Amino acid sequence: MLSYARGAESPALLEETIGENFERTVAAHGDREALVEFATGRRWTYTELNADVDALARALMAVGVAKGDRVGIWAPNCAEWTITQYATAKIGAVLVNINPAYRTHELAFALEQSGVTLLISASTFKTSDYGAMIDEVRAGTAVRTVVYLDTDDWPQLLDCATGAEDLAGRLASLSPHDPINIQYTSGTTGFPKGATLSHRNILNNGFFVTETIGFTPEDRLAIPVPFYHCFGMVMANLGCTTHGATMVIPGPAFDAATTLKSIQDERCTAVYGVPTMFIGMQALPAFAEYDLSSLRTGIMAGAPCPVEVMKRCVTEMHLAEVSIAYGMTETSPVSCQTLVDDDLDRRTATIGRVHPHVEIKIVDPETGETVDRGRPGEFCTRGYSVMIGYWQDPERTADVLDADGWMHTGDLAVMREDGYALIVGRIKDMVIRGGENVYPREIEEFLYTHPDIEDVQVVGVPDERFGEELCACIKVRAGAAPLDAAAIRAFATGKLAHYKIPRYVRLVEQFPTTVTGKIRKIEMRAESAKALGLP
Ligand code: AMP
Repeated sequence: MLSYARGAESPALLEETIGENFERTVAAHGDREALVEFATGRRWTYTELNADVDALARALMAVGVAKGDRVGIWAPNCAEWTITQYATAKIGAVLVNINPAYRTHELAFALEQSGVTLLISASTFKTSDYGAMIDEVRAGTAVRTVVYLDTDDWPQLLDCATGAEDLAGRLASLSPHDPINIQYTSGTTGFPKGATLSHRNILNNGFFVTETIGFTPEDRLAIPVPFYHCFGMVMANLGCTTHGATMVIPGPAFDAATTLKSIQDERCTAVYGVPTMFIGMQALPAFAEYDLSSLRTGIMAGAPCPVEVMKRCVTEMHLAEVSIAYGMTETSPVSCQTLVDDDLDRRTATIGRVHPHVEIKIVDPETGETVDRGRPGEFCTRGYSVMIGYWQDPERTADVLDADGWMHTGDLAVMREDGYALIVGRIKDMVIRGGENVYPREIEEFLYTHPDIEDVQVVGVPDERFGEELCACIKVRAGAAPLDAAAIRAFATGKLAHYKIPRYVRLVEQFPTTVTGKIRKIEMRAESAKALGLP
């Protein structure tokens, strides 16, 4: 069987709990800055952060949160999110991350399905429709207590600690294999499922992600990506605390200008984001005025990065060592990553090479047989990073996790001769036009080379004759003349095979996205068909 793995040259896996690892960092780097909340100016050293983590951990124990109990968090990025993450990890509670984009139906489902008993939310949520949603769904769930941050609820919770709680005893009773986190996945692929992850899963993934980009305690990471998603909670927070680096939270949610200002003022050495965030930062009229000279590295993940955007990251954002990571919530998340000295081709055409201590293979989705290098197939991964399973859902777990421990991602990938993989689409994304398989990514990449196109997404729409036709949804650059299908045809003719040239062009202001910036292709496909008057 053809599978790919590496690890011999990498550090060994961390065989400890998140709390133990955090305490080691505190012991080694106590005086260093751990956390900065840029919007409020609040700051913590590792020693101070640990004191706040312990105060919350004791309070949670005092109000009866036992090992394995589920504590929900439904809040935008803030310091208390991070404090809650480490406090629940220290007492072995299972943190349930809830997507702020959820509405009542999904909220009720997540709370009920995971059995959350204590829910932490934000004061800004209490006074908006979020608070009303919590009130509406709460009765049908096991939620006993709702604690709103930034209100009297928080000090009242902290005051519950008596000092008699045996926090050290609790910490010592935990195993790295215990479940510690349930992440309801982003929902681009249907109804949310609760990916259940252990200390070992996410601690190691966070560690190896920033190990790959050479993190040291000197690094300062700007984190505009949401904490409820593995990109924030694992790749950013655990990526920093495993290395004694500094977490800088620009604001409660992504804002291009605030992110750039936080990088400048806090002298950040690294920044994370999905490509859409980098596109947003680079499109700001004042982009060139920010001093980004402290930057060295960062991670872009979640979707492929257009070549032009990557070029500007390197030349105009000082991100010479930026890395592309690929993964999914169910695999903690990262399975592949590019290296800091990889060239432009590897950083844009590929998702990097296999992560340490992880195995990958690419299989024919029909037969399950591994395919040769250079041929597309479903990307599968196995190793420490694969989730325990979907929370109380053995059926859906069995749909994606086979008996040999391989996680079937649903992504179509190709392994190159140089050991770098690339994603060519999702199995569901693939457009079949007149019997030809078309991978939208290839056409999008081509259209990005058009000088008037700022961003583009290609989807398949129904067609009587060919089954499907291609539709390009285009955001044109400010000041550029509108484009139509004839202009795109003229641009692409002779450069792209005829069946890959989009028949339809729609000019759009924005794409439907999830909170993490991932494009909702299914929604976009339906929107496009409707706009074009197709069935
Ligand atoms: P999530 O579980 O929300 O992290 O979404 C995971 C999905 O995002 C994967 O299955 C891929 O379809 C997509 N994805 C993640 N990283 C990349 C990447 N670097 N390039 C292309 N697609 C990606």
